[in-house]
Amino acid sequence: MVPFAAKFIAFFTSLILMFQAFWALPDIDSQKTDFDEVKNVIFMIGDGMGFNSLEKTKAENGVSLVMDTFELNGRSRTSSANSPITDSAAGGTALATAVRTSNGALGVYMTDKKNQVSHPMNLTELAISMGKLAGVITTDSTAGATPASFSVHVADRDYEDQITAQQLAGDLTVMWGGIAGSFTAEAAAEYGWTHIYDEESMNAVEEGSRSFGQFTSALWHAQSTDGMPTLAEMTEKAIDLLDDDEDGFFLMVEGAHIDKHNHNKDGENMKDAVMSFDAAIAVALEYAKAHEGTLVVVTADHETGGILKIAGDYVYSSGGHSAFNVPLLVYGCDDFINDGQSILNTEIARRVACAMGEPNFPIEVSVQS
Ligand SMILES: [Zn+2]
Repeated sequence: MVPFAAKFIAFFTSLILMFQAFWALPDIDSQKTDFDEVKNVIFMIGDGMGFNSLEKTKAENGVSLVMDTFELNGRSRTSSANSPITDSAAGGTALATAVRTSNGALGVYMTDKKNQVSHPMNLTELAISMGKLAGVITTDSTAGATPASFSVHVADRDYEDQITAQQLAGDLTVMWGGIAGSFTAEAAAEYGWTHIYDEESMNAVEEGSRSFGQFTSALWHAQSTDGMPTLAEMTEKAIDLLDDDEDGFFLMVEGAHIDKHNHNKDGENMKDAVMSFDAAIAVALEYAKAHEGTLVVVTADHETGGILKIAGDYVYSSGGHSAFNVPLLVYGCDDFINDGQSILNTEIARRVACAMGEPNFPIEVSVQS
């Protein structure tokens, strides 16, 4: 296929998908609040994971994915409040709070980015308000946009010191990811966190303690590298630390590097990151199958790379994000979506809250002066 033809097809495909994103039929289920109730939630986000990231991995590596075994499959429509193409901050905020904000903003309304009047509650805060334990784990820096969406309320994803400060002062039980520049072990100790930094120190964390993980960037590989845990190992240990509370738990798991490698059009490493994320999903699914009342939701914040199938090959049409719909896989709540249904990214968060027993999500939280 000549490059021009590929670009031509890519252009028209994006036009159609952008049109779909705006001209969405009203969702007849968006008023529904009585979903099967669950005790535990494992919310898994493959950053930048479009359908063709998965198809490319399967076709070129000759593998099957645990993601293909979910019986309930739908699609998420990922636009942000100010663009048909979202970034991970607005995309994460929609999945965490059921509110669409502008690109770059984390857990705040686009009309009140400095959080002077109010902000939308996120799902980890909702879980904690219900007496559950909550955790956030990622292969990205802990200050990355997706983990930050589930743990802070900050005007801009670039304000890394504010993000880390809010996380340290917050109420999560597990907060693990790559090193954030403004993290210090002294500050973590002041707030009562156990500081962990490799697989050995992670495995030594005891139930009842709160741990802040600062691992190196070797975190995302499907196989353990440089003494770092894999995302699957992190998921297993995090569930183990969270699941003894009788009120249940909420855990967000992000595979961040599907996005990062798609930005670089680096298909080889992207496929490794998909396999790493899929292995973490296997851990979550195995737990859910053994523990009734556990909801597993797998989705993406957006697609990255504009990967298209052209003449039998999966090829990159861009080095950025696209408006493509992304996968939505559900286990443990049979009426969460109708099979094949396409819903808004915000609607995923609202339905998770409903399944947790909160029918009035999103929730506006006033900021006391
Ligand atoms: Zn990205």
